[in-house]
Amino acid sequence: MKALRILGYILGCIWSLPMLPVALLLMAYYKPRRVRWHKGCLEFIASYRHDKRGNILVDREGHKVTRIFGNPGGQCVGVPVIAYAHETCWDNPRLRRHERVHAIQGMILGILFGPLYGGHWLLIRVFDCPDEPADAPAWKRAYFAIWAEKQARAHENDPNGWGS
Ligand SMILES: [Zn+2]
Repeated sequence: MKALRILGYILGCIWSLPMLPVALLLMAYYKPRRVRWHKGCLEFIASYRHDKRGNILVDREGHKVTRIFGNPGGQCVGVPVIAYAHETCWDNPRLRRHERVHAIQGMILGILFGPLYGGHWLLIRVFDCPDEPADAPAWKRAYFAIWAEKQARAHENDPNGWGS
């Protein structure tokens, strides 16, 4: 079983290799300040945004603003590469499992992952945008309904699930 798992991992990395330039571009922009190899994934913590004087930007709640697009806690930027906003994020098991599910999705679908993810979001946003959560903007309500996000949320609390 372990040999099969290793073989699947290697094949997934090869199949998704065309996504590597995207991961490298995002890594270059996010400027990793800490990097580690963890359970088959290259994980890094992105740098913070700075103002013109060089001070770290903070949001309304006083949290430092990360360079990651959309300012999430974590983001799978390639296969198997995951960006995190802060040290507390990469030590958060639920978030780590969530992002690892996206890495596995990318290994299975390879170069099709991006178009299927983005295409589904676009279809939902244009034709079937949910009303909930009511306080979220339409783009985010559509994002919550993407198949890949539903699958990642379904596994994020399972210590024996996909993302473990
Ligand atoms: Zn997600």
